[in-house]
Amino acid sequence: MTITELIERKRDGGRLTELDIAWLIGSYTRGEIPDYQMSALLMAVYFNGLDDGELGAWTEAMLHSGDVLDLSQVTGPKVDKHSTGGVGDKVSIPLAPMVAACGAVVPMISGRGLGHTGGTLDKLESIPGFTTTIAPGDFNRLIAEHGVALAGQSDTLVPADRLLYALRDVTGTVPSIPLIASSITSKKLAEGLDALVLDVKVGRGAFMKDVEDARRLAETMVRIGQAHNTRFVALLTDMDHPLGREVGNANEIAESIEVLRGRGPQDLVELVQRIGGEMLMLGGLAADPEEARQQLVACVDSGAAITKFEEIIEAQGGDPAVLDDPKRLPRPGNVHVLAAPRPGYVAACDALAVGRAGVRLGAGRARKEDDIDRAVGFTILAKPGDPIEAGEPLARIGYNDEARLRAALEVLETAWEIVDEPPEAAPLVIEEVR
Ligand code: URA
Repeated sequence: MTITELIERKRDGGRLTELDIAWLIGSYTRGEIPDYQMSALLMAVYFNGLDDGELGAWTEAMLHSGDVLDLSQVTGPKVDKHSTGGVGDKVSIPLAPMVAACGAVVPMISGRGLGHTGGTLDKLESIPGFTTTIAPGDFNRLIAEHGVALAGQSDTLVPADRLLYALRDVTGTVPSIPLIASSITSKKLAEGLDALVLDVKVGRGAFMKDVEDARRLAETMVRIGQAHNTRFVALLTDMDHPLGREVGNANEIAESIEVLRGRGPQDLVELVQRIGGEMLMLGGLAADPEEARQQLVACVDSGAAITKFEEIIEAQGGDPAVLDDPKRLPRPGNVHVLAAPRPGYVAACDALAVGRAGVRLGAGRARKEDDIDRAVGFTILAKPGDPIEAGEPLARIGYNDEARLRAALEVLETAWEIVDEPPEAAPLVIEEVR
């Protein structure tokens, strides 16, 4: 078979067999199919989708493109979390040490920034020395010693997702239910998990813009979990507005440290506790949501959660001094303040506009080979519901390049909607799929 035949068949609405898909994913992973042909095929999938049989075969091929971790020797419930991608969504970073400090085993394989959304790996790598490229043997050792590891896809861990993820990031092929579902579930099933909590983002800044699509994505992933005898629970959560106040990379690490110190913005803390609570209950470590919340609060109050993060940073080669001195994280050379054009109440802060502005500023990639600038980003000073006077700051922008700042401002200035009456607050967690 040739790749051109498969592209044409998928473009014309035909279906790929299990054999076609195994060959396609295997050949691409081995570097035998060039990016331009794989991009064309991904675009055909974006428009025509994959049926259940194709999706099952696609997920299997990705899952077995590298090693599948065997954590059967590790005692304790193995639970993890994954988000479909958001703006300011740094939940995994405080969550993993908190849940591990409560007794769960968290073998977390994450991703980089995707489209206008940020990525856990890019954020973690702003900690000087921190490495997310971990060989499977070392991953097992970290898990055995610390109960948690924060790794990326690699040549040996779901390599197909490492390559496809980077290609989708820059080819407009991210917002596809089968491509997102296979990307997430292949990574997570490769971890050898007992259970997973999925944070399916919905709204302007999410890949799923409405609840119906988000529900379909959640149901698709929960079904893949069932087919692999692994319990997946999905929460549909709001991504109309950025989560927390910091959007970027290094500044999101600083905000995560705040959460681990018992501070941090209310929406971020609420979501960390909600997802963490689900993880503890799925792992049999808490009987109900209130008990789970109390455990999470206690591990922050006692310092156990931040100590666990310190342990992870040291074990993965990073500089743990950033915890006491976040100024050791990369910092931007300049700051610009965006001011409110009129008085009123903030009705919206469009997460898509903020995310796109972040890519323009250099915090995300426009091409696969781009480096990102981990120092730059936004501090959102006016969140939905806040009253504001004309001239008061909406956001602080940390930047290193004037041209990039100007390009970012063109989009960022469109993000805020200011109205005369206080808006109604929207719920953070919209729905659950079990
Ligand atoms: N997160 C992933 O790991 N993959 C996607 O496709 C989207 C979000």
